[in-house]
Amino acid sequence: MEHFWEALSKEVGPISTTVQMALEHTKFIHSGLVYLDNTTIDYIESDIRRLPKLLNKSDAEVADMLGGYQGSIQDFHFMAGERCVLKMIAAKVKELGFQHFVQEPEGEESYDESSNLEIPVPTEKIYSVPELVPNADEIVDEVKNKIFNYYDFRRENHELEKPFFDRLQLIQVEIRRDYLGDMARVVCPFCDTECPTAVIIRRDKPGTWKVSNFSGHVKARHDDMEFPGKQNIKVRRCRRRSEKRNEFTDEMMMYSIEESDVKIEM
Ligand SMILES: [Zn+2]
Repeated sequence: MEHFWEALSKEVGPISTTVQMALEHTKFIHSGLVYLDNTTIDYIESDIRRLPKLLNKSDAEVADMLGGYQGSIQDFHFMAGERCVLKMIAAKVKELGFQHFVQEPEGEESYDESSNLEIPVPTEKIYSVPELVPNADEIVDEVKNKIFNYYDFRRENHELEKPFFDRLQLIQVEIRRDYLGDMARVVCPFCDTECPTAVIIRRDKPGTWKVSNFSGHVKARHDDMEFPGKQNIKVRRCRRRSEKRNEFTDEMMMYSIEESDVKIEM
């Protein structure tokens, strides 16, 4: 593997350990690298977030597997520069061929034959690239409504949250299908349009969509915005701190009714 990364770095420059390990652990070291675009990179991020469950490892162990990834695995994202490197890798593998990077200099051990396939064959079904579902307008509306209703249900201050809801209308959804069923690729309308982020959400049980990946992203990445449920989160954090100090104020008591956790699905 070392030779592979060395040869690739000669073409695209330094490749972070996170990128190397992410591609290895999501079974991407084959000529399918030419397909690395925004959508596929989103799937890799989504696969990484599922690794603790798939491999039955803790988040910390998976972070170690990624060469000491510093962030939270549950909110795993590549840095903007890493996304660029991934696209450069795709372009170079397309230009020079996968073989170019796996050929060892003479005298050294040759690369595993089974990896020298011209057509990408995912070794495990779970990593197969999901197919786009055609004419999925109805499902797209279902997902959009679910997300909208999720926040509408939690509205606290119509005026302050109006910009959030205005922007939420711009949400883009694409439906794909793999062996686990439908998956919605939700492009976050709050992220920088120069570097859009997509979140993958799936059905929980027939007819419902689990929006926690999206609401979790909003909570983690867009804390600077007023969104429904945010005040509750703040008060809860505040309450936890004051519980520690054992000094409730009246204002905090006003909020101390048990609000539903943002992770609970409707
Ligand atoms: Zn975002």
